[in-house]
Amino acid sequence: MKKLVIFDFDGTLVDSFSNRIHSHRKVAELITEFLKSRGIDADYETILKKVIKTEEEREKRLSRSRDEWWKQILKEYNVTDVSQDFITKLTNTYWEILKDTTTIYEGAPELLKELKQKGYKLALLSDTDFAPGWKEKRFQASGLADYFDILVVAGETSPEAKPSPQPFLEVLKRLNIKRQQAVHVGDNQETDIKGARAAGIDSIWIDWQESTNGNKYGAQAVAKGFPELKKTLYKFLGIQNQTQNKQEK
Ligand SMILES: [Mg+2]
Repeated sequence: MKKLVIFDFDGTLVDSFSNRIHSHRKVAELITEFLKSRGIDADYETILKKVIKTEEEREKRLSRSRDEWWKQILKEYNVTDVSQDFITKLTNTYWEILKDTTTIYEGAPELLKELKQKGYKLALLSDTDFAPGWKEKRFQASGLADYFDILVVAGETSPEAKPSPQPFLEVLKRLNIKRQQAVHVGDNQETDIKGARAAGIDSIWIDWQESTNGNKYGAQAVAKGFPELKKTLYKFLGIQNQTQNKQEK
């Protein structure tokens, strides 16, 4: 019987993707100003495109240090002697705006509240933002923190990031739960589902993409986006979903 539900954060409980353009715009603006101050002919729209493209490409490779993204863009303008202070300013600006523009998926607080009421322990397991402290700040700002028993920031408050099994096993250890008693819920197959599997923990994959890759790592159940999660999770946990019939009418 399951006693613990482990949740990922971005793309699982909160939409931190739809409004990223606001972070991209401000970073592009700062980079443009900086390059102009160096006498380099820089065009804001071109830099904005580079920021967006860098994120797309780096995310695919799980190369998530924003510091490195900005350095790469500056390098394309032959700027390699930039101060860490400026790089940190760009990264902090990016996360600050993202924190303020992230929204909770509709129904997330209610789902967490119900699970708590039914006696489940809840853990948040999220990878580091590669800028110490930001993941926790964003988690606290989401308003969801009170529902959780623990927060583990993989690669920051625990040594290794997903898909290493290490942070998953740390969650179990800290809550004194056996792997068979836990289920992990996440939206990224390459980190969440692969990692849960490596740790021997059942998982539910939130598939937003209608992915062509299919269920690569054998998640025990797949939900089409957050709206389907409650039904999928409750079915997996063997919970009667009293509100389901009403919603489906
Ligand atoms: Mg995620």
